[in-house]
Amino acid sequence: MNDLAPAPHRKARIATASLAGCFGCHMAILDIDERLIDLMKLVDVDRSPLTDKKRFTDRCDIGIIEGGCCNEENVHVLHDFRRNCDVLIALGQCAIMGGLPAMRNAIMHSDAPLRECLDEAYITGKYIRNTTHQVPNDPALPLLLDEVYPCAQVVEIDFQIPGCAPSGDIIFDTLAKLLNGKFRGFEPEMIKFD
Ligand code: SF4
Repeated sequence: MNDLAPAPHRKARIATASLAGCFGCHMAILDIDERLIDLMKLVDVDRSPLTDKKRFTDRCDIGIIEGGCCNEENVHVLHDFRRNCDVLIALGQCAIMGGLPAMRNAIMHSDAPLRECLDEAYITGKYIRNTTHQVPNDPALPLLLDEVYPCAQVVEIDFQIPGCAPSGDIIFDTLAKLLNGKFRGFEPEMIKFD
């Protein structure tokens, strides 16, 4: 396991976001456990669900993205992270490949796959108990994209941390090496999908 570097002259700033994910990757960040105390001596957390900050307050050194893009808001947030972060990390399979939300991409036999998917989810599905018999269409809801896109298909991604969810160990190891300027990729034994 990699040790964290001595505190630099200024703390690094990191930001995180959850797009089309299940928050499991953010829970995995908390799996860093007691090492979070050492990490917090080296970094300040800017925009993140962990701080409940919805906007950047400063430029960040590292941005961590959970989830792919399934709607227009996800795309907007991802572009905002690319603009405001020097290094952008796709954390977990949803960010890297679309993950579970991208299963809807497979519905290609229909002329209107997104409509078919929404109908089944809200109206025709076997276990649906939606008494309105309507797909939610409040104007405040972000527009869905035709497909779910991995982050790298929307913006340039610098690093990917695989796993569903990645382990706290691999997240800590990657951040520690990045903060040390020593990240050269993952050791094979670090990459697990269970
Ligand atoms: Fe959840 Fe797994 Fe996707 Fe992370 S990669 S957001 S844990 S489904």
